[in-house]
Amino acid sequence: MTDIKSMTLEELQELMESMGEKKFRATQIYGWLHQRLAVSYDEMANLPKSLKKKLESWPVTALETIDVQISKIDGTRKYLFRLSDGNMIESVLMRYRHGNSVCISSQAGCRMGCRFCASTIGGLARNLLPSEMLDQIYRIQSSTGERISNVVVMGSGEPLDNYDNLLRFIHLLTAEGGLHLSQRNLTVSTCGIVPKMYELADEKLQMTLAVSLHASNDEKRQELMPIAKKYSIKELLKACRYYFEKTGRRITFEYSLVAGVNDTKEDALELAGILKGMNCHVNLIPVNPVRERSFARSGREAVENFKINLEKCGINGTIRREMGSDIDGACGQLRKRYMEKTESEK
Ligand code: SAH
Repeated sequence: MTDIKSMTLEELQELMESMGEKKFRATQIYGWLHQRLAVSYDEMANLPKSLKKKLESWPVTALETIDVQISKIDGTRKYLFRLSDGNMIESVLMRYRHGNSVCISSQAGCRMGCRFCASTIGGLARNLLPSEMLDQIYRIQSSTGERISNVVVMGSGEPLDNYDNLLRFIHLLTAEGGLHLSQRNLTVSTCGIVPKMYELADEKLQMTLAVSLHASNDEKRQELMPIAKKYSIKELLKACRYYFEKTGRRITFEYSLVAGVNDTKEDALELAGILKGMNCHVNLIPVNPVRERSFARSGREAVENFKINLEKCGINGTIRREMGSDIDGACGQLRKRYMEKTESEK
């Protein structure tokens, strides 16, 4: 691997040794990359010129900021970044009273094909490197000068479809000597790739796993999410229970409400039925309308009734506060709009 920002401290130490350099150089470089958030070797003032020269064939991954949209309503910021090969990704900064939360992408595009999601419309371009996931957080922290306290991997892409890079990203983000984020302040959201959920559980990390459920039976789920044809809800919930057993971490279920599709009283009762006895939490999100799709969001009353019906059955739910509704809303829309614009300019 020549991607220096994706290397662990131990790997950097080996690299320094192989270059005939002292081991402590690795700690210096690691600190520049992951704590001071440097974007080039030029900034690394305490490295000798000779070492910088040797490092020329090890480029530092740094994302280029193309656009920032700032919500006038709540200060939410949407960032559009360009990767070194020209691919585009987007990330979101949300400001809450309890701290700053960044939502990052794990892939450029996505191949999961969820029907209501904009990220998947052009398919998967490629997986992101660990450094490219990290740098979304680093660039946002640098540009605002404010510490990021929470990270959610809920932007474009399916994180468990980029599993090895995801694990390395988590290691680098939470390791000492970097931003040192607590695993408890990290959430990874999956559409439910069951075998990878078992693997992840066995890592026994203290992060939160969010599972995109969106329906209470297989038939409906299959209409919304192709992955549901591969794994039944029964298999998915079994993996969720296993995750809880191994980690002690309560699962969060994501449930996007689509008017007339999955938001009725019967849907709520069926959902409560399948989640009964599980240590979990349900996040209710009125679906964000995507131009290319015909799904309509549930009205306020339907959303509130859904929550009440769940709670009557003993299932906790939260209606997610909408952030940044005045800037390119739903997942993947900013990237998509940009790509359409450049396409039409050709
Ligand atoms: N691939 C992962 C993470 C990215 S999507 C996953 O599926 O969980 C993050 C969340 O946003 C998922 O719950 C996804 O289903 C949801 N989502 C995608 N498009 C949406 C839309 N238009 N409105 C509401 N939620 C949406």
